[in-house]
Order: sequence, then C-alpha cells, then structure tokens
Amino acid sequence: MNTDLLFDAFDREHLWHPYTSAVHPLPTYKVKKAKGCIITLEDGTELIDGMSSWWCAVHGYNHPELNKAIEKQLKNMAHVMFGGLTHEPAIALGKLLLQIVPPSMKHIFYADSGSVAVEVALKMAVQYQYATGHPEKNNFVTIRLGYHGDTWNAMSVCDPVTGMHSLFGSALPVRYFIPSPICRFNDDWNPDVMIPLRKTIEQHHQELAALILEPIVQGAGGMHFYHPAYLREAAKLCKAYGLLLIFDEIATGFGRTGKLFACEHAGIEPDIMCIGKALTGGYMTFSAVLTNRQIASCISSHAPFAFMHGPTFMGNPLACAVARSSVELLLSSDWKAKVQHIETQLKSELRPAASFPSVAEVRVLGAIGVIEMKEAVDMARMQHIFVEKGIWVRPFGKVIYIMPPFIITSEELTKLTSALLESIDIMYN
Ligand SMILES: *Cc1c(COP(=O)(O)O)cnc(C)c1O
Repeated sequence: MNTDLLFDAFDREHLWHPYTSAVHPLPTYKVKKAKGCIITLEDGTELIDGMSSWWCAVHGYNHPELNKAIEKQLKNMAHVMFGGLTHEPAIALGKLLLQIVPPSMKHIFYADSGSVAVEVALKMAVQYQYATGHPEKNNFVTIRLGYHGDTWNAMSVCDPVTGMHSLFGSALPVRYFIPSPICRFNDDWNPDVMIPLRKTIEQHHQELAALILEPIVQGAGGMHFYHPAYLREAAKLCKAYGLLLIFDEIATGFGRTGKLFACEHAGIEPDIMCIGKALTGGYMTFSAVLTNRQIASCISSHAPFAFMHGPTFMGNPLACAVARSSVELLLSSDWKAKVQHIETQLKSELRPAASFPSVAEVRVLGAIGVIEMKEAVDMARMQHIFVEKGIWVRPFGKVIYIMPPFIITSEELTKLTSALLESIDIMYN
C-alpha cells in the first residue's frame, strides 16, 4: 500500500465522510476506478467488493449496459421538472416496476433517496388518515433495531439506541417502539412474539397512522433476520385497527434476500412500500414509494386533493433510465440462482468463523452474510487489515457483514470469504 496516494490531504482536511469526525476522521481510501466486483485504489491495489456500496451495486461497477442507458438518455436530456411534464424514462420504468412489485401496488411516487422515500411514505400515511376523517391518527409504531434513514422523520423511526435519539432528544417526534421480533427467520414460529405489538396497537391505535418496518431483514440496525409469520400477523393487526402497513424494502428489494422483495417470504402485501438503493444498480441516488388504488384515491378525493410532496429532481430522467436498465438486467439474469448460489457458498465458507472465540454468531440469508462479533470492532484497524488482504468490507458496531454484487464469481467469493476469516483471525485470535 502506498499511503501517500491512498490518503488525500484535502479530503482529510475538508470533506466530511459518513459518521466520522471532521477533525480526526477514520481513514478514507482513495478509489481510482471500479469494474465488476473489483475496486481499484489510487495506488493500484485491487479489492474484491463485499459491500455492493451499501446494498446498491448488484450488477457490479461500470456495467456496459447501465453506462449505455445513461449515455443514451443524456443525449436527450439530463433532467426536466416533473411538475406538468413527463417523459418516456419515467413511464417505462413505472410500467416495469408494476410488473414486479406486489400486485396491489398501482401508484408510484418517485423520490430522491431512501430517506426521502421514507419521509414520503410517512406523510402519505398521515395524509390518508386525515382524508378518512382521522387527523388524530398521525403517529407511528415500529420495531426496535430498525433503520429507515437519516432525515428527521426517518430518524425518528430508527432504533432509539443505535439511531441517535439521545443526541437529538426532544427535537425528534416521539414514536412507539416495541421489541425487535425475537423469532428468527428459521426458528419455529412462536405466536407470543406478537404480544408487544398487539398491546401497543390495542392501546394506542387512535393515534397511530401506520406501522413501519423493514420486512425480514433489519439492516443497518444490526443485520437481523426475523420470521415471516411476524409480517403476516402484523398485517392482520394493522387491518383490524385501521393502521397502514409500510414496508421499507430499500435494502431488501431487488433480490438480495433470495426473493425479489422480502415481503414475498411472508406472502403479504403492504399498503405503502419504499424502494431505493439497488433500484438504479448503484448508479444514482433514486427511490420510489408505491401504494395501492384505495390509498391514492382516498388522498386525492379530499382537500387538498393532492399528495403534498414534490421534490425538485422528482422522476429524474437519467435516474429513471438507469433504473429501468438495471431492473431489466436483473430480470434477464438468472438472479435467483445467483443469489441461491451465493447463499450456499456463504453458508459453507463463513461457518468456520462460528467457532472463533471472538465470534458470537454467523448467519446467512440470501446474498447477505453476517459475522456478529462479541465486541464492537475497531473499524480503522480492521479495515486496514481487510485492505491489505485485498477485500473491501466495512463493519459497523459488532457486525462484520458482506453482501457482494450478484455477479461475483465463485472464485472471487471464496477469496472474499477466506480473506475475511483470515483478517478476523489476525485481528482477534
Ligand atoms: C439505506 C436505507 C435507507 C436510507 O436510504 P438513503 O438512500 O441512504 O437515504 C432507508 N431504509 C433502509 C432500510 C435502508 O437500508
């Protein structure tokens, strides 16, 4: 490693990076280029990507098809406002999305990022309750260990401990939190798991607009996989008490868990659904909020007869074009078999870590592999070892996790997992 090339002085002095100090930042490695599953650093070091740039780059980097889609669209226009105007990229993407999302989802709101999609979904739920004559139903219930983004209201429904609530304290709206479902994905279903949600909804439904959660996989809140029956039972409770059910599929969407959308594990449909991240194959920030006919028409038939949101870059043509291309690429690939293959390989190759004294648990679902440590990881040191071993993996808290691009080859994946285990061994054992 050539540290002069890798660590940029201007960057260190002036550019703020996620969740780190402006004055004593964690090291940030300078990337020259990326292609397929390989991230090349400024000094030529090649890293096998284990992160898909936070769930996004499912087709790997610098994909010729996705490049072509953006270049082609750029020749027509990069952007026009969505107020009063529309365009083919938005329409074509919309048609494609309606073929793959749960069938009741019929209305699409394009937004800028995952967090904004969550804001939009929460507003939609409140505006729906308002339109049905229940303006008092304007709060939310959610499960602990969730993550829904970093903007104000998205943050308010994130886990109160890992989600910075103590810091922002009284400035944040206060939501209802119930324990994260303790019944794991592969456990026998235990109906008692529903008791806290049932109690909270029974007691507070008069003030609750919706239940929001990440179906099956709680991502940035700790990478937990819970039982599909929880979603089915939650849906029944919501229906019985007039709450909408919002699924945040921003991380889980587009095949990551082995189903195209994680709610398919449970066989139920939400009232409102957020998608983002892999939507554009990791090319651009973009998201969408989808809902059913009933909610859209109810909102639209009461004053102010419109849904009150409209971002400047709504329906951005470049983002729509690359999203369409990414979804087409996914559907035309054998993504299900790929994810299945990654799952099988992760299960066998990560298993040895379960017997490391430093490791609490190893778990795998779809193309997500998680090694949960007993103690929080020293990120800077761990990262340095990973880079020396030729892999790009970024742990948080106690979890070291990988979710590689679906196009990763078996050989690349074996290199990734073996370097991962060697690194943990060097660091802790
Ligand atoms: C990443 C994420 C978000 C926020 O998306 P951004 O594009 O970072 O704003 C929201 N919900 C879930 C489940 C996520 O994983």
